[in-house]
Amino acid sequence: MYPPLNREFPPVLDGHEDFITAIKPRGGAFGPRGGRDFLSDAAADDSKKADAKGHVDLPRAMRGGLGGCFTSIYLTNERAEYNPLAYAIDEMNDVFRIADRSEGHFRICRTVADVRAAWDNNAFASVFMFEGADPISWSLKELRVFYEAGLRCLAPTWSRSTIFAHGVAFGGHLPETGLTDLGRELVHECNRMGIILDVSHINPAGFWDMIRESSAPIIATHSSVKAISPHVRNLDDAQMKALAEKGGTMGINFANIFLRPDMQANRDTSLDVVVSHFDYVKNLVGEDHISFGSDFDGTDIPECIGDAEGLAVILRELKRRGWSDTAIEKACNGNFLRVAAAVW
Ligand SMILES: [Zn+2]
Repeated sequence: MYPPLNREFPPVLDGHEDFITAIKPRGGAFGPRGGRDFLSDAAADDSKKADAKGHVDLPRAMRGGLGGCFTSIYLTNERAEYNPLAYAIDEMNDVFRIADRSEGHFRICRTVADVRAAWDNNAFASVFMFEGADPISWSLKELRVFYEAGLRCLAPTWSRSTIFAHGVAFGGHLPETGLTDLGRELVHECNRMGIILDVSHINPAGFWDMIRESSAPIIATHSSVKAISPHVRNLDDAQMKALAEKGGTMGINFANIFLRPDMQANRDTSLDVVVSHFDYVKNLVGEDHISFGSDFDGTDIPECIGDAEGLAVILRELKRRGWSDTAIEKACNGNFLRVAAAVW
């Protein structure tokens, strides 16, 4: 049996986790964290090296008070180019199979009520999101089918180009133009259907186009503060203010390179640096626009967090710094659920 959901703090609804990509074979070989089962406790498995334990599985999520997440369907560049539709279906099927084997402890959620019911039953609430709209064609017909399957959040692009938008490049060069005509149509269609739009990974021109085009609140599922760490993937003050004015929220990403002022891939990032991102957003735009966006199993995170059980370390520090219970509840799940209630 699984441990009950830890209630030291309100359940965390995390903006972004890559476990489904991380635990499955990649291109015939297992990825760096490959070969795990999401339903088994990798932390307790002494046959696995520390790096192979990953950041999250169901037992650790429950012990860590991680109530659920936007489960990312992420495609490598090769998969996005070769057959994104097939790979997206493949990954979604993997998520459904986890739910099937979980005896009700891992649930695919499509409504806010689904999420709350999961928590009432000590279950993990998984919401499908696409990190890049590569599986959607010009006709947008796939969007309807994916919506029916549970898709509730969509980023028009990852750090590459799609027919809808261009991402921020991690290296190399991508166009600096905004949404394409089709990208604008995609935004309107997501508004109409009730799919939350995500601006993490899109370039600045695309970000501002989304702010202009969307009639609904927009979120950044996993981005951090540019004023602290000047990485291209982070948001500047003007972007955070625009997201807030639109009623959205941003999930702080735990990637060392997005947290550290020196942007180094170094795991000795201090808790002080991690928490400074939360404080910065709260001071700039208020407690209604800050959330978690861990990027668990998608990146290298600070040693002081370690894995899903480290969420409480951050929350205890926020509390020590004077965050009210209400502000903590909003960061844990209230802000994402407010947007979900408005959009879904
Ligand atoms: Zn990402």
